[in-house]
Amino acid sequence: MPHASLLRWSPPAGGVTIGKLPKYYGKSGSFRGVEGVSKPMSGSPPLLDEGGAVLVTGGAGFIGSNFVRQWLAEETSPVVNLDKLTYAGNLDSLADVLDHPRHHFVHGDIADGELVLHLLAEHDVRAVVNFAAESHVDRSIEGPAAFVETNVLGTFRLLEAARRWWSSLPESRRSAFRFLHVSTDEVYGSLGPTGKFTETTPYAPNSPYSASKAASDHFVRAYHHTYGLPVLVTNCSNNYGPYQFPEKLIPLMILNAVEGKPLPVYGDGLQVRDWLYVEDHCRAIRTVLARGRPGEVYNIGGNCERTNLEVVQTICRLVDQLCPNLPHAPCSSLITYVADRPGHDRRYAIDATKIRTQLQWEPRENFESGLRRTVVWYLENRSWVERITSGKYRRERLGLIR
Ligand code: NAD
Repeated sequence: MPHASLLRWSPPAGGVTIGKLPKYYGKSGSFRGVEGVSKPMSGSPPLLDEGGAVLVTGGAGFIGSNFVRQWLAEETSPVVNLDKLTYAGNLDSLADVLDHPRHHFVHGDIADGELVLHLLAEHDVRAVVNFAAESHVDRSIEGPAAFVETNVLGTFRLLEAARRWWSSLPESRRSAFRFLHVSTDEVYGSLGPTGKFTETTPYAPNSPYSASKAASDHFVRAYHHTYGLPVLVTNCSNNYGPYQFPEKLIPLMILNAVEGKPLPVYGDGLQVRDWLYVEDHCRAIRTVLARGRPGEVYNIGGNCERTNLEVVQTICRLVDQLCPNLPHAPCSSLITYVADRPGHDRRYAIDATKIRTQLQWEPRENFESGLRRTVVWYLENRSWVERITSGKYRRERLGLIR
């Protein structure tokens, strides 16, 4: 067996009830953030103190796998990683940390309440970080049902299991427990040419994806107000970086540019997104976990607005520089305008003042440096790309209403 901690769970006969669970193993579980601004990656002190494990869901996906890697490098407590391994989740994205002694990978579904409850108790979990989701807008247009199943029902079942575990803890542990739900700026809808989303912007989701995330955010909020579960919600802008599935804009463009394939730009390409390097997002989540106030929402963004066309043109320039002998250079000649996404939101922009001023979080990467790192990573990791796209997905166009 390549990784001893890989657990495929089957329910015990008669199921799991909270009464049969080990109650509380007596570890100190308080969250104390370090004072002041977080330090550079090398030698950074942990943001969280010693204590029980954190349960990360969706940790074999893009952001989740980066989070698990950063957690193991910078924190000291164990991470239990629950992932269903859908088309978007892949153990190849965790290959370098699968055998880590503080990493316990579990293949399973967040909607499986008994499994979740078992894991919370078995690992004495003090915090849940919920990344698990169906995440691609184009797929939500083709098949919205899976988005309701995982993003709405799955989050609800996860909340229920967390609430049962949390209720069984003694008071000192209950106040230290956290349920952090990772959400998106897309729940706020589309902006005009000016203005930014703040934490109090009314929700106006426009796609089945953003509607399902909005519904899950509302359930998380309700579990705080109704039951007192200490929740945190983060709404982040578009992420980019290593290990992103190549159906998303940036990896798709890098790979197609290198291979001389068309670079499909939706509509006029002037849709604006606010880009954040994935490691900065992961560090923001750890900051909110350590220092955020239960019941609060924190917007996360890089203050880095770019049109999709600008993003593609920058990728073309980087690929031209890094691969000087491509026969189809310049790569910008591959740009092809295609039919727009139905209901395509025009502009997203995040006002991240709250997390910057209240929690002292700042992104470390700017768009140019982060994008260069990302292009280099995809050039150096072609075998990862080949392995994770060896299934059904072949970089074809998705999300047109047929
Ligand atoms: P992803 O699609 O790359 O990964 C999702 C992961 O969840 C996969 O590993 C998948 O196997 C797993 N999963 C799906 N259904 C599951 C289930 N029922 N039970 C357990 N695991 C399941 O997504 P991502 O881009 O890494 O996004 C992670 C989270 O961050 C999502 O909640 C998304 O809404 C949010 N988010 C993403 C972005 C972005 O730009 N990618 C921006 C803001 C917020």
